[in-house]
Amino acid sequence: MGASYVALDLETTGLDLENDEIIEIGAVRFDAGDVIDSFQTLVNPGRPISPPVVELTGITDEAVRSAPPIWSVGPALEDFLGDSPVVGQNVLGFDIQFLRRAGVRHSESVYDTHLLAEMLLPGLSDYGLASLCECFGIAQEVRHRAVEDAEAARMLFLVLRERCAALAPEVLGQAEQWLSLTAWPSRGFFREISEAAVARTPGTFGDNRLPQHPPEPISPKGEPVAVAEEHVLSVLRSAADHPEVFPAFDRRAEQETMTAAVARAFNVEQQLMVEAGTGTGKSLAYLIPAACHAVANGDRVVVSTATINLQEQLLKKDIPGVQRLMGCENRGTGNKEQERLKACQLKGRRNYLCLKRFDALRTAGVMSDEEALLAARIVIWLAQTETGDRAELRLSQGEEAVWRRLSADGADCTSSNSPYVVEGSCFLQKARRKAEASHIVVVNHALLLSDKATGGRVLPPYTRLVVDEAHHLEDEATIQFGFASGERAVSELLERCESLPGQVQAGLRTLESALGPHAELAGVTAELSRRVGVSRQPVRDCFGALAAFMQQHTIEGFEREQRLLINRAMRVQPDWPEIEIAWENLRLVLNQVTAGLKQLEQSLAAPGAAEMLNYELIRAELDSLLQEMQATVIGLAEALEKDDPERIVWLERERSDGSVVLSSVPLAVAGLLEEYLYEGLSTLVLTGATLQAERSFSYLQERLGLENAETLALGSPFDFRRAALALVPRDMPEPEWPAYMDSLAQAIAELVRASQGRALVLFTSHSSLGVTHQLVGEMLRGEAIQVLGQGIDGSARQLVRALQSNPKTVLLGTASFWEGVDIPGDALSLLIIPRLPFSVPSDPVFAARSALYDQPFEQYALPQAVLRFKQGCGRLIRTKTDRGVLVVLDRRIASRSYGAAVLGSLPDCRVLEASVREMPGLVEQWLGRVPSA
Ligand code: SF4
Repeated sequence: MGASYVALDLETTGLDLENDEIIEIGAVRFDAGDVIDSFQTLVNPGRPISPPVVELTGITDEAVRSAPPIWSVGPALEDFLGDSPVVGQNVLGFDIQFLRRAGVRHSESVYDTHLLAEMLLPGLSDYGLASLCECFGIAQEVRHRAVEDAEAARMLFLVLRERCAALAPEVLGQAEQWLSLTAWPSRGFFREISEAAVARTPGTFGDNRLPQHPPEPISPKGEPVAVAEEHVLSVLRSAADHPEVFPAFDRRAEQETMTAAVARAFNVEQQLMVEAGTGTGKSLAYLIPAACHAVANGDRVVVSTATINLQEQLLKKDIPGVQRLMGCENRGTGNKEQERLKACQLKGRRNYLCLKRFDALRTAGVMSDEEALLAARIVIWLAQTETGDRAELRLSQGEEAVWRRLSADGADCTSSNSPYVVEGSCFLQKARRKAEASHIVVVNHALLLSDKATGGRVLPPYTRLVVDEAHHLEDEATIQFGFASGERAVSELLERCESLPGQVQAGLRTLESALGPHAELAGVTAELSRRVGVSRQPVRDCFGALAAFMQQHTIEGFEREQRLLINRAMRVQPDWPEIEIAWENLRLVLNQVTAGLKQLEQSLAAPGAAEMLNYELIRAELDSLLQEMQATVIGLAEALEKDDPERIVWLERERSDGSVVLSSVPLAVAGLLEEYLYEGLSTLVLTGATLQAERSFSYLQERLGLENAETLALGSPFDFRRAALALVPRDMPEPEWPAYMDSLAQAIAELVRASQGRALVLFTSHSSLGVTHQLVGEMLRGEAIQVLGQGIDGSARQLVRALQSNPKTVLLGTASFWEGVDIPGDALSLLIIPRLPFSVPSDPVFAARSALYDQPFEQYALPQAVLRFKQGCGRLIRTKTDRGVLVVLDRRIASRSYGAAVLGSLPDCRVLEASVREMPGLVEQWLGRVPSA
């Protein structure tokens, strides 16, 4: 490393690249030996620094008052930067943008440690500076100050350099070759290392695709044997002897009751629904009986969850814990030698890299920047991954499109003598074999349902199923058995069809003779291009007719979500035939394109065609296009041609660009679940924290077609009378009143002042969230409480992290915050629900399904809202030492008769009716009070 670099970091008044200003610059010049020089200055931003930034950085208005403005610092900084590559964390997307705005010149080579770490260290859960520094033991005593952060980035850069130099020469060489084709500003990093002598020594990280011996599949040991409930309970209780694995374990009656009930469901082959309140420890309560049954019988149990968080908890914590218990226990069971419990996670095909397709890409000639960047990331990742699972790569949106062509989805896996299958390196096959050899297979609801619906191509056979987070099953089945497509999706599909002929033509040029049998390929591709070309106008006409119809029949102001249910009444409107004619024209041309794709498929099967460049990639794209095109034509035809009383069809406008999307979903999923999921199962356990509405399972039983299932309701072991106070308003205005939004914002601002942040507000609509974010932000300006909105200040995950690192925060969230958010401890002490979460009446699925009931509000709308309300409230008390206040600002909870049903769904806590003015005092009092024993 002969060259020198400059590590750079800026502190700013905020994260807005257009409007915020620099307040501090720190830079460190260095080479392989050490630091050569440093540069540090405060900068006067010409505006006040907000309290959250002062709190974060310690830089005050006072401190920058006499500092120079950026225009006078620029020349000295330019001198310092010289033409050395600039190094820094997130420097490309942030610091460099601020420098450009300030007119500060710098080298074109910018080595972003965040991006380099993503490339060189796939699979980390966090690529933030603090996490990376912690990962490599880089001490960071001061954070969020420019020169200290620049110094941390310098040290991180040196570690990444070493890591890169340790790559096998062929891996490094291939990555460098691909990156050199791109305009990526960090490409020089790989070139330098590739050229350096150190890179020519054999590296540590080479190709990881070593042949592996496939694990033995498990097989049933004859007639099923029952596992005694007492035995299962003894395994659970033995967790108390392993504080190193279960540090917070204590015996809970609710957990033991659930464990025994699940064990019984396995023994007597039952359908069982268990509602287990927060803190029950339900995952151990089903995993232990499932594991005992599976190991004793050589059987397989599939465990399905809705969220990634729960999957991670099962795979990283609970299952290894159960494995430990199962490995240690042998008390009085008669089983001298317990078989080891084996478990794994299985995902859908599109999650796994197809090596056949990737190797085809390796030989490809011209690549786009995105392809080359992803290819370089993958070749480095291949040296380290064991799973080939894209979750380790954290793909960007642009990379997702490239990944689609490299994944195992739709790959032709029929050849059993494929080298990847023979050598055992195919990731999909490895994952399947591991699942075949596992007693517990963890999946998500989407794979569980899509695998059954498409003929079980991924999951190994099973007859025992546990569904956690079961309240999501109806929604997921609605998606999996549904269809949606719009003008944008169809146009994108056609664009992909349009680019296929060019790829084939380029491939043909690489064949020794493009004449003879391959001459017809040129004709077939030309015809395909022509057919795609003539399909453009019918696409515009058909979706234009749908948009016009929607415009005509949507009542402005009432249809807030811009959705239109297409029922029989709509299909007899005088302008509906225009849609039928436009669709008929579109259907004809789409069928022509599909026929053109099939002709191309036949021509590509001709002898010798496989020799062409990119053959595998072209085949992969062709297979997936054929599948998608056929599904699109069938889906559109079913939605537009048939008035099927069993389907709900509606038109909707995309939020992003206003284009029209046509959707069709089943009216009821119970029958489909019966046919595709429950059929053939001997044990089915559904569980979750919110399965009962109004203290009854009947709503969910009916929705899921499980009227005969056994049920068990278990309360939470937490002492909610000590932990939680619920406040309901006496005097909040109705949402329709003109002053409602101002009153709501005022109430929220006062409440979060009383709690000093530590607050989450759960909205039912993005628009209310946006308005409140602005109003509360203005009301709290100048105070040390930051106001963060979902989709405005970051993703749900980023906002949760922000609250945890700075509890003086109020988070405003919508759908994904109502459940799955787990913030234990003081960081979340106040939960505010502005409105009860009733479905929007104009929502087509809600409207169509509620029409099936005699009393739609009592039988459908209310139970649905109660379940959501319970999920939201479940965010507040997460551990037995948590303490918090729930404030419901919807006065209907106190004024309407159904309010009692909503309040009755809360755990046994103190409920107070109060005026909005009294509430902040009550919050302060409750949170400040010393908890009684
Ligand atoms: S078996 Fe299928 S997924 Fe695996 S490498 Fe071959 S084509 Fe790809």
